[in-house]
Amino acid sequence: MATNRTFTMIKPDAVANGHTGAILDDMIKGGFKVIALKYTRLSDEIAGQFYGIHRERPFFKDLVSFMSSGPIVAAILEKDNAVEDFRKLIGATDPSKAEPGTIRNKYAKSIDANAVHGSDSDENAELEGSFFFTAFERF
Ligand code: UDP
Ligand code: MG
Repeated sequence: MATNRTFTMIKPDAVANGHTGAILDDMIKGGFKVIALKYTRLSDEIAGQFYGIHRERPFFKDLVSFMSSGPIVAAILEKDNAVEDFRKLIGATDPSKAEPGTIRNKYAKSIDANAVHGSDSDENAELEGSFFFTAFERF
């Protein structure tokens, strides 16, 4: 299968708890190559745009304030079957249901503060990557 890409964020809880290095290491050891990388903080407006698909969900407001509560690390990652394999590497949305050894199982405490984002389709991976990175920031 052709190599393809996904988009991830290390969320404010994991950055604040000092897990950035360990999580990047898990991603790289999981076979993902870093194509783009950025340490930044989302405004409420940017977080709301990024998660716009969840606007009608009951957790939307809390999600937006959590995602803008502190710095995050955003990245584009490359691997064959990237989207699906990355969802396996991070585990279920609710860390209490995430398989042992997955990033959310190891580093997340709750369904809202769940350590990492991972794109859910090739189409969203491209949209999300382009939301954060220009062509000059991808290598
Ligand atoms: N989320 C939440 N409560 C829920 C479901 C989701 O706070 O009941 C948050 C959580 O941070 C999750 C994000 O909203 O990662 C996006 O939800 P989604 O269903 O897309 O989960 P994901 O794709 O991140 O596993
Ligand atoms: Mg999702």
